[in-house]
Amino acid sequence: MEKVKFLILGSGVSGLAFANFIDSDNYLIIEKEDSPGGYCKTIIQDGFTWDYSGHFFHFRDSKIEEFLVSRMDQNAFVKVVKKTKILYKENYIDFPFQKNIHQLDKQEFLDCLYDLHFRETQNTSPSNFKEMVYKNCGKSISEAFLIPYNEKLYACDLSNLDADAMGRFFPKTNIDDIIKNFKYPESKSYNDVFTYPKGGAIEYISALLKDIDLKKIAFNECVEKIDPIKKIAFTKHRQIQYENLISSVPFPKLLDYLSITEGRNILSSNKVLVFNLGFDKKGDSENHWVYFPEKKYRFYRIGYYDNIIQQNRMSLYVEIGMKTEDIFDKENELKIVLSHLKEAKIITDHKLISYHSVIMNPAYVHINKESQQLFEKCSIQFNSQNIHSIGRYGGWKYCSIEDNIIEAKVLATKINNNHKKCAE
Ligand SMILES: Cc1cc2nc3c(=O)[nH]c(=O)nc-3n(C[C@H](O)[C@H](O)[C@H](O)COP(=O)(O)OP(=O)(O)OC[C@H]3O[C@@H](n4cnc5c(N)ncnc54)[C@H](O)[C@@H]3O)c2cc1C
Repeated sequence: MEKVKFLILGSGVSGLAFANFIDSDNYLIIEKEDSPGGYCKTIIQDGFTWDYSGHFFHFRDSKIEEFLVSRMDQNAFVKVVKKTKILYKENYIDFPFQKNIHQLDKQEFLDCLYDLHFRETQNTSPSNFKEMVYKNCGKSISEAFLIPYNEKLYACDLSNLDADAMGRFFPKTNIDDIIKNFKYPESKSYNDVFTYPKGGAIEYISALLKDIDLKKIAFNECVEKIDPIKKIAFTKHRQIQYENLISSVPFPKLLDYLSITEGRNILSSNKVLVFNLGFDKKGDSENHWVYFPEKKYRFYRIGYYDNIIQQNRMSLYVEIGMKTEDIFDKENELKIVLSHLKEAKIITDHKLISYHSVIMNPAYVHINKESQQLFEKCSIQFNSQNIHSIGRYGGWKYCSIEDNIIEAKVLATKINNNHKKCAE
């Protein structure tokens, strides 16, 4: 039987980052797809550059950014000051909605401001995401944007999500900031300025692959069962004995491979159908991405690659949130998307000349108290068996690729230090 010190499941950002930071060459990466990158992949087709879905980068840790950038061509990026809008009742207003209610018509502005000021501010913490939204922003803002938008995205009842399900990605409300913004608009969100590699998000994966021997990645191979006592992973082709297992596969799948059924059925997520669309000419908009809270539009968000990497033909990604069990007809969805883009005046007489679609499943996981408790409980058991479930889906959470790299680095550093101590 093959033996390896570190068996890494998945060659997405998390798996590759771990391989970069672990002080050992004795590792093997098993990847079920035929290429690396996980959700951070790029499609180049008919002159268009598309990711699985809009993947833009806003680094908070300069060391992580430096680590990636030092492995890339210095001219490979665009640095962009974000232009994002919400299409609301046929008008564009700036994102985030709660800071730009003065751009609504007068009656709606008054309702939003009144409800915001007189919102229930008792000191009890909100018990779920929906309650948190009402408590933070009041009824009118919640019902005009935050609830319908997030219901379209998560494809679930928002009372089933934890109050902190979106963590730092949820723009926090401060009345002083909102009122200041009426007079002196300023944007202060987590991704005001973002970077994007001109060759697409896969460039970051290429940077992570720079010091990795491709022979250490087994593509088209899927782990299907794990024996945590004997420390053996089973694929269709072989059995691999490991000392440490680093898994970035979705947490529910890891439970299946370990034959753990208790609590498994409380884990849920949405899936996102992404259409990447290439048209024959540009549109009028200079926006980078646009949010669509209204149900009459099938998608919850679209983004313009052509406005980000300065191309002369409109190149869009369009995201549709669905329940994982939803069945759909792709061609029919495409027809609906094109007709809704027309209704929203994003396209007029544009001709679609190239397209690609992908399903991201899971995409946004449904984070609640039960899912967090299950993950914590299992992690204690896993760690005692040298199993580490990391990444956005391994950790069953909401995070960015930078967070994935930091998490993998912290874990690798901890293991490196433990090994050093043992060697002393
Ligand atoms: C719609 C959407 C938009 C996003 N936009 C951004 C953004 O703008 N900026 C940003 O920073 N982040 C963004 N993200 C988040 C980002 O995609 C993730 O944080 C990141 O790609 C997760 O990397 P990962 O390696 O943890 O997981 P993954 O990318 O899911 O990698 C896991 C890998 O494991 C492999 N695998 C699965 N099962 C098995 C098995 N049994 N055996 C072997 N291999 C297996 C998979 O094929 C995959 O390659 C977005 C996510 C979504 C859903």
